[in-house]
Amino acid sequence: MNAWTRTRTTCPYCGVGCGVLADVETAASGSPAVQIKGDHEHPANFGRLCSKGSALAETLSLDDRLLHPVVDGRQTSWDEALDTVASRFQETIAAHGPEAVAMYVSGQMLTEDYYVANKFMKGFVGTANIDTNSRLCMSSSVAGHKRAFGADTVPGVYEDLELADLVVLVGSNLAWCHPVLYQRLAAAREAHGTKVVVIDPRATATCEIADLHLALEPGTDVALFNGLLAHLQATGRIDDAFVARATNGWEDTIEAAAALSFDEVIAHTGLRRETLACFFELFAGTERAVTVFSQGVNQSSAGTDKVSAIINCHLATGRIGRPGMGPFSVTGQPNAMGGREVGGLANMLAAHMELEDPAHRRIVSQFWGVSSVPDRSGLKAVDLFEAIGEGRIKAVWIMATNPVDSLPDADAVRAALAQCPFVVVSDVTARTDTAELADVLLPSIAWGEKDGTVTNSERRISRQRSFLHPPGETRPDWWQICRVADRMGFAHAFQYIGPHEIFAEHAALTGTENDGTRDLDISALASMLRDSYNALEPLQWPLTETAHEANGRFFADGKFFTPDGRANLVPVRYRAAASSVDREFPMVLNTGRIRDQWHTMTRTAKTPRLLTHIAEPFVEVHPLDAAEYGLEPAGLARITSRSGSVVARVSVSERQRRGSVFVPMHWTDQHASAARVGAVVAANTDPISGQPESKYGAVSIEAFNAAWYGFAVTSIEPPIATYEYAARARAGIGYRLEFAGRAPVLAWGDIAAELLTKPGSVGERQILSYCDEGHGQYRFAAFADGECIGLLFVAREPVPVSRSWAIDQLSARVAPQDRRHLLAGRPSQDVPDQGAIVCACFSVGANEIVRAVVDGGCRTTAEVGQCLGAGTNCGSCRAEIGRLVDEHRFETAV
Ligand code: SF4
Repeated sequence: MNAWTRTRTTCPYCGVGCGVLADVETAASGSPAVQIKGDHEHPANFGRLCSKGSALAETLSLDDRLLHPVVDGRQTSWDEALDTVASRFQETIAAHGPEAVAMYVSGQMLTEDYYVANKFMKGFVGTANIDTNSRLCMSSSVAGHKRAFGADTVPGVYEDLELADLVVLVGSNLAWCHPVLYQRLAAAREAHGTKVVVIDPRATATCEIADLHLALEPGTDVALFNGLLAHLQATGRIDDAFVARATNGWEDTIEAAAALSFDEVIAHTGLRRETLACFFELFAGTERAVTVFSQGVNQSSAGTDKVSAIINCHLATGRIGRPGMGPFSVTGQPNAMGGREVGGLANMLAAHMELEDPAHRRIVSQFWGVSSVPDRSGLKAVDLFEAIGEGRIKAVWIMATNPVDSLPDADAVRAALAQCPFVVVSDVTARTDTAELADVLLPSIAWGEKDGTVTNSERRISRQRSFLHPPGETRPDWWQICRVADRMGFAHAFQYIGPHEIFAEHAALTGTENDGTRDLDISALASMLRDSYNALEPLQWPLTETAHEANGRFFADGKFFTPDGRANLVPVRYRAAASSVDREFPMVLNTGRIRDQWHTMTRTAKTPRLLTHIAEPFVEVHPLDAAEYGLEPAGLARITSRSGSVVARVSVSERQRRGSVFVPMHWTDQHASAARVGAVVAANTDPISGQPESKYGAVSIEAFNAAWYGFAVTSIEPPIATYEYAARARAGIGYRLEFAGRAPVLAWGDIAAELLTKPGSVGERQILSYCDEGHGQYRFAAFADGECIGLLFVAREPVPVSRSWAIDQLSARVAPQDRRHLLAGRPSQDVPDQGAIVCACFSVGANEIVRAVVDGGCRTTAEVGQCLGAGTNCGSCRAEIGRLVDEHRFETAV
C-alpha cells in the first residue's frame, strides 16, 4: 500500500483564505495522486471548502503549463532569458530613465514574491511604476480606509458576521464570490436568526438568505448611505460621545449627508419608500451590525466615496471595533491583503508606509540600504497601460496576471502591449491572451509547488506550502526577480536562500521605528528561522496584547492611526457614474464573477466539474428588456459599448434589473471567440483610488441573429477562432463546443469529420448522420473502436439537446444497433433528462431537484440534500437549490 503525506496549505482563490489539507500519495510513480480536503483547524473555514476549493486536485495537471523559458518564441535557458530581461531593462533605463520601465503584478502572488518585486522596483530600479491587479479589486477600500482610519486597516474579523444581529451585504454576491464566508453567515442565521440585508441591483444567489433585498439603481450607494446617516441623526441614533471623543469632521459630514432629502434618496436609488424606511430602521435599531462590502462598491468611479459613506455610518454610531459590528471590506483575491502589507500598489510603500511621507521614505530607504525611494506615486493600472500605449513606458514585466482580458478597454491594452518594445510575462500557463504578446516568457511555479504566505480578508497570515515538485524548469517568482536584480548590479540586496528569509525581512521592516504609530507590526516574527517559518500556524495581526484582548479587532480603544488619533468622518456627496446611458447605448453593463470559475479561467477551466454549472459566456437580461430587444432565451446577443463588443448566450431572468445587463468577467480568447468583456468596459476610474468602474458601463444589446446554431461533444480540442460565436469547455473526457454563425455553412459533413475525428484511432470508425437540408438540421455521431467519440448537432434554432446526456455519451460503448439512437440528441424515454447541473460535486441537475420537490415532496434544501446528496459537500449550490425549492414547492405531482 502506498503512503500518503499530508500538507497543510491554503486555497489560492478568493480572499476568504480557507485552510486546505493536501494528501499526496508519496510512493506513486509518475504524477502523484492528490486529495484535497478542508482543514478543520483553520480558523477561516473550519473544514469547509467551496466548489472551487474542493476541485483543486483536478487542476494540477501539467496540460497548458509553461515549463521552460522562452525568448522571442524560442525555448531557451534561464541564463539567456534572465540576461535578456536584465539587459533590456538596463538599456531602457539608461536611455529613457527609470520611469520608462514598469511591473504589473498580482494578488495571486505570495507575500514574499510581492515584497521582493516592490523592493526591486521602488528601492533599486528607482520607480514606483509597479501596480497590481488588486487595483481592479479593492483599491477603493484601501483609499477609504486610509482617509478614515489613517491607515489601510480592516477593523473586523470573520467572527463578527456570526456575532452580528444584522449583516448588510453591499455590492457583494457572497454566495458565489466568498462562498465559505457565506456558509458561515448562513449557519449563524440559522442558529440565531441574524437579519441579512442585500444591497445589489441584481437579485443574486446571496438573496437566498436575505430578509430584505434593496435592488437599487446601479451606482447610487452614496445616496443610500448618506440617507441612512441623515436618518440616524434625525432619529437620535448617533453616538455623540464616540463622535466627540474619537472622530473629526462630523459637522461637514452630516451636512453633506443631509443635503439629499429622503425623497431625493428615493429618486436616486429607485427604491420604494417602505423598503428604504425598513432598511434605515433596521440598521438604526440594531447595535450589532456589520456592513460587508466588496467589488460592487469598489469598482466604481465613486468607489472611495462609497466606502467612506459606509464607514461614516459605523463611526457615527460608534459601531466599530466591538464584537459583531463594523464596516468589513472582503477582498477578491487570495493575497490582496498581503500585497497591501508590502506596498504592492503604485501609491504605497512597504509595511503600510506612505510614499508621500518623508519619514516613511527615510525608514524604508535606510532599511533597504538605498539612498532614496520614489517620493511620488507610480502609475496606477489603467494609467500604466495607457502610458505603455503612448510609448512612455517601453519595458514591462507582467507577473501572474492577464491584463489583456481583465483590464477595462482591453482591446486598447492588447494594442498597447503589441507595440511595446519589450514585454516580459511570468506565468504558470503557456497560452494566455497576454502571454501571446510576450517577448520573454518565464515559467513560474504554481499552487501546490509554491511556498510562502498569504493574508486573508481578516488579516490572517497563513502558510501556502508546497507539496509537489516544481515541474520542468519552473521557478518561484521571487527567485526570478532576484536573479534579474543580480544581473542589474543589485545582488547584495537580493541574496535570499528561501522565502523564510524574505518573510523575516518584511516582518522586521514592519516594526522598524513603529512604536505603535503604524497598524502593521509583525516584527515579532522577524527572528523566525526556516523551521519555525515552515511550522507557522495561521495567525492574525495585530500581534499585540491589546489586540488579543479585542480578539483581533482594531479600534476597540477608539484610537486610530491619524496624527491626532481620531478617525475622520469624510463628507461625501452622491454623483452619478462616469458613463451615462443614451439612445445609442441605453443599457447599464454590470460585470462580475460566477460561482465555479476564477478570474480568466487558466486554472478552473482545467476541470470539467467546474464547467458543468455554467459552461458558456452569458448575458443576463430582464424579461421585458428581452422582449424589447427581440432576445430569445438561450439565443445569442451582441453587447456593444464605445470600446468593444462581446457575443454571449442570453439568460432571461427576473433577477436582473430592467435596463441593466450582467456579463461574467471570466471568458478569454482561449475559451470563446468573442467574449472578452473587458473590451466592453470603459476605462473610467475613481479619481482617488484609480479603480476602474467595472460595474457600470453604457452598452447596447441586440439579438445576434445566427443562421445556424451548433453543439458538439468531441474527444479532441475543437477550434474556436474560426467561428463568429464559439465557446469551448472541457466536458467529461473531452470537450463541448457551442457555436453559431450568420453565414450559411454548406459542408457540415466536412466540419463533422474535422471536429469528431479522433487522431490515433486505428480500429473501426464510423460516422452516422442525419441531414434535413430543408429544415437546416444536421446531426452526426462518430464512433471508433466501439466507443462514441463525438456528437454534433446543428439547427436553425438553439440546439435543444440535453448537454449532460450528450457529455455522458463520450467514450460510452454503444452497440452497433443502438448507435442511430444517439442522433435523437436526448436520453431514451426511460432515462429522464437531469437538466443543467446545479450541484457540481454530485452532478445533480436542475430537473432532478425539481422532481425531488414536486414528486418527492422535499420542502427544504436539507431535504433535497438527504434525497439526492445535492448541496451536502461544498455547499456552494445551496442557494440555487433553495431557489428551486421555493419556485416549485407548491406544484403538485401529476
Ligand atoms: Fe477557496 Fe472557496 Fe475558500 Fe474562497 S471560499 S478560499 S475559493 S475554498
